[in-house]
Amino acid sequence: GRDGGLAPIDGLPAEAFDVTSVRADFPILTERVNGHQLIWFDNAATTQKPQAVIDRLAHFYAHENSNIHRAAHTLAARATDAYEDARATVRDFLGAARSEEIIFVRGATEGINLVAQSWGRKNLLPGDEILISELEHHANIVPWQIVAKATGAVLKTAPVDQAGNLLVGELAELIGPRTKLVAVTWVANAIGTVTPVREIVELAHRAGARVLIDGAQSVPHLPVSLASLGADFFVFSGHKIYGPTGIGVVYLAERVWEETPAWHGGGNMIADVTIERSIYQDPPNKYEAGTGNIADAVGLAAALRYVSKVGIDRIATYEAQLLDYATPRLAAIPGVRLVGTAQHKASVLSFVLAGHEPEDVGRALNQRGIAVRAGHHCAQPILRRLGLEKTVRPSFAFYNTVDEIDLFLQAIADLSGGE
Ligand code: PLP
Repeated sequence: GRDGGLAPIDGLPAEAFDVTSVRADFPILTERVNGHQLIWFDNAATTQKPQAVIDRLAHFYAHENSNIHRAAHTLAARATDAYEDARATVRDFLGAARSEEIIFVRGATEGINLVAQSWGRKNLLPGDEILISELEHHANIVPWQIVAKATGAVLKTAPVDQAGNLLVGELAELIGPRTKLVAVTWVANAIGTVTPVREIVELAHRAGARVLIDGAQSVPHLPVSLASLGADFFVFSGHKIYGPTGIGVVYLAERVWEETPAWHGGGNMIADVTIERSIYQDPPNKYEAGTGNIADAVGLAAALRYVSKVGIDRIATYEAQLLDYATPRLAAIPGVRLVGTAQHKASVLSFVLAGHEPEDVGRALNQRGIAVRAGHHCAQPILRRLGLEKTVRPSFAFYNTVDEIDLFLQAIADLSGGE
């Protein structure tokens, strides 16, 4: 039941968020799985798509499809306009100063690899330090290992406490004269910790280091203003914010363009080519070699417009209510151990159930139509730091409901009781 789970916030009753109406925008939510209506609690892995995004993709292919920039015909103009409009939409959504700072890539992973391979190889010398945290997704660990090996740079790690809070005092002490880059996630995908990114950016900049923020798990849940945050690099993935797969963004602040060379070479990014040399275009084209994912960039823009229409502040408030409802009730089930109980969290729960392998819990939930992630969540260091190899991870989005959480809690209680 809805007994007191959704307390009024700022004087607004919870009903101010019309979840029934937003659910109607997501056709997949009426899907049936194993005889039950789908409950999608795997939002940290990927999110479902509103009809507005599905329609926008179909419209692009039905009316606008062309390669961009290269031809004088009408469809090229339509596709180019749609693609550049998508870039401007991302700029506005992120609160970036310029559209040219928005580079389309395949996702957060490719964005971090771009920074590592272009900026990293040019700017890191033997003994220079890259500072990450224990909370990182493998996407914000492995690219730095690769570039550290290539350059002789050293990878350092800021620790967390037992609850999964990032220890910012220790992070500050790890920033020294050799620190060239601090690369930290805003929201930890495995356990939901929200890190104090503004403070981290200030600490890094005070020491003359550059900062990359991994926004893959933050942009769907928290408002962002890059112009005021001041990060030098910022990445996110479209598919985690209700957009298509295969499209994401790396934000390169104008101040780092000079020190960030081209990464991939090819068409689209050049101004002039002879066999001896090439002259590149200015950003963003300089960093977008080859034919990009035009349609999905346009689809991403539709997703961001949709999120803006629902309202990111209202989304954050509602999801916090879902988390506040679920957390104590899950923790109260016998045998449940919550993993990651940081002070500031996004709507991600990670847990283990005594006597049950995480995969078995995942399968049992799937029998009731409930989709969660069970495994290491591509973040093995943080789980091992907390003494585990795997967890069960339900993660909520604004289209989830208290009733869905109740069905999930009942399923876990039944497992716990040996049913
Ligand atoms: N960073 C974080 C915090 C993530 O959660 C993820 C995906 O789970 C990534 C990066 C990588 O995103 P993608 O696989 O879309 O490139």
